[in-house]
Amino acid sequence: MAELIDGRAMARRLSDGTAAGVEDLKARGVEPTLAVVLVGSDPASEVYVGRKVAECTRVGIRSIEHRLPAETAQVDLLTLIEALNADAAVHGILVQLPLPRGLDAGAVLDRIAPGKDVDGFHPVNVGRLSTGTGGLVPCTPLGVMMLLDSVIDDYRGLEAVVIGKSNIVGKPVAMLLLEREATVTVTHIETRNLPDIARKADIIVAAAGAPHLVRGDWVKPGAVVIDVGITRVTDHDGRTRIVGDCATRELGHARAVTPVPGGVGPMTIACLLANTVKAAESTSCD
Ligand code: NAD
Repeated sequence: MAELIDGRAMARRLSDGTAAGVEDLKARGVEPTLAVVLVGSDPASEVYVGRKVAECTRVGIRSIEHRLPAETAQVDLLTLIEALNADAAVHGILVQLPLPRGLDAGAVLDRIAPGKDVDGFHPVNVGRLSTGTGGLVPCTPLGVMMLLDSVIDDYRGLEAVVIGKSNIVGKPVAMLLLEREATVTVTHIETRNLPDIARKADIIVAAAGAPHLVRGDWVKPGAVVIDVGITRVTDHDGRTRIVGDCATRELGHARAVTPVPGGVGPMTIACLLANTVKAAESTSCD
């Protein structure tokens, strides 16, 4: 049977380390602080923000919520970002996406000071990631790599196939795998013969948002499979549940797989907290 990589346990360990980092900073007079900006009242965004704030509290990070109405003008949102950039007591800024229609998310993310960009979406951090020169790494890809690191010591020459080429998951994961000297193939909805490409992989990272896309016969024996996908489906009885991109039950011949839920998901928030402490450490060392 494939090993199930326990993302919840790993996230707990990471958050314990983060809590220790928070204590160190507090002993030096720095209170790590995350500003969370939520525009509008998208129910899923409300849930995500609630979770992030609760996790901040658990590890001792101060969080400040800025809730703005959906009708907020772009200029007012940018003014808030500038104020948070200038506030030395704020170490991390997170703008919950998606933004309501009419707001330009790219322009908003570009305005966040790169050193406070705990989501790692600012072009400076994207550039640092692609040149392997540090910076803040996006949370989900960072979590993916930690999960992989728990079962792989040496990536050199391994064949890695990333399914999905988004800016927030697929591309950064590909960059991180390249840094470790894996041979990386990035695939997407227009890729031809995806099952054949996947079958050659030692590592598969599935981030397509396509439930059970990766079947048992796509995966070679001994491969490591990380399932990033999260799709909410409604069963016949009206209950909703979360489904990943991989038909996990068919992957018994893999070396290790991540479950959904309980794999990548918990790591994402834990990495956000870790990034906030990293941002606080780097500004307090200046
Ligand atoms: P996205 O929609 O921005 O990108 C999806 C990518 O997958 C695209 O490049 C698309 O071409 C590709 N794709 C879609 N269907 C495909 C198919 N049938 N075959 C091959 N490629 C296909 O999505 P995203 O924001 O990158 O998120 C991807 C998935 O990961 C979603 O399910 C999302 O909910 C999940 N996600 C999970 C976490 C987490 O914390 N676990 C975080 C972010 C995203």
